[in-house]
Amino acid sequence: MRWLRKLFVALLLLASQSVAAAEAEPFAIAGDSVAPANRADFRIEVPAGKDAATFIPVTVINGAERGPVLAMVAGVHGFEFASILAAERLAERIDPKRLSGTVIIVRVANIPGFEGRSPNVNPVDRKNLNRVFPGDPDGTQTERIADVLAREVVARSDFLMDVHSGDGAEFLDAFIGVYGGPLATDFPLALKVARGFGFANIVRYSMETQEQVDRGRSLNRQGVAAGKPTILVEIGQNGSRDPAHVAAIILGVENALKILGMAQGPQPAESSLPARLFEGTVSVRASYDGVFHPVAASPRPLAKGEIIGVVRDYAGREIERLVSPVEGYALYGITGPPVEAGDGVVTIAIPTAAF
Ligand SMILES: [Zn+2]
Repeated sequence: MRWLRKLFVALLLLASQSVAAAEAEPFAIAGDSVAPANRADFRIEVPAGKDAATFIPVTVINGAERGPVLAMVAGVHGFEFASILAAERLAERIDPKRLSGTVIIVRVANIPGFEGRSPNVNPVDRKNLNRVFPGDPDGTQTERIADVLAREVVARSDFLMDVHSGDGAEFLDAFIGVYGGPLATDFPLALKVARGFGFANIVRYSMETQEQVDRGRSLNRQGVAAGKPTILVEIGQNGSRDPAHVAAIILGVENALKILGMAQGPQPAESSLPARLFEGTVSVRASYDGVFHPVAASPRPLAKGEIIGVVRDYAGREIERLVSPVEGYALYGITGPPVEAGDGVVTIAIPTAAF
């Protein structure tokens, strides 16, 4: 009978283990912890260094059951308001008791940029947070923010969503960027989540070389470097806070929760297929500082050789005429009039029939 008792004990052990596997555990972040089926708000400190300290406001929604960790990051650019307003709403709407897994919502990644109402850069050190990943704990403020985001948010996630808009003096057509190629992780899953947003445009960025991942590394490429399936969400322009754009981000994130198996409910409908697919982009850059006069400051198809706009000097003389080097679609760009040498005046997406 001894073997029977042994078998019974083994079965009991197995049963208790499988119960434990379904129950969520406390989620630890930045020295704090969130119990299962709970939500908590934190300020992750970015300590003072070469310049002042700052913080990153984060809400963690820890589900009642186990599942993946989704990180949704808003406000890498503090003037891109649609993402920030969507994050605020999502932090209220997602119910931890009905969630499997954990959602980390970064409400505003770049507080100095937000409070300073500063497009593109953090006004403290004039650096673009979306070019300095993985950051540096001994660097200037923007680099220290990137370091904290990379360690506490990106590294802790299973799926990364980097949410942006057209910045101040930028036009933009809503799109989702998806990372594919040999250096990206789980492109099919990322594409499924991308389609769930139902935006008109999807761009595939193929990560072929480490240099592509590293040069001026953005938050989304930090996701790629850390081996996380990653999407870039872009909607709205010129710092808009259009309620329709905010609602579109919320719908996309809530659809993502279903696709990732974190929330119940019907899967997003197939009718949300995008109208246009693109394989990579080409940027047209200005060579001079001055006054930029675009032919049209709006998304549109472009022919090869078509004039995009002219740059004039401060005496009103035309010093540069910018033309499209390819046939494609003007996805986003600057509206002008200010332009600096090196600025991408328009980013042209290259059409493709399929991925
Ligand atoms: Zn941005």
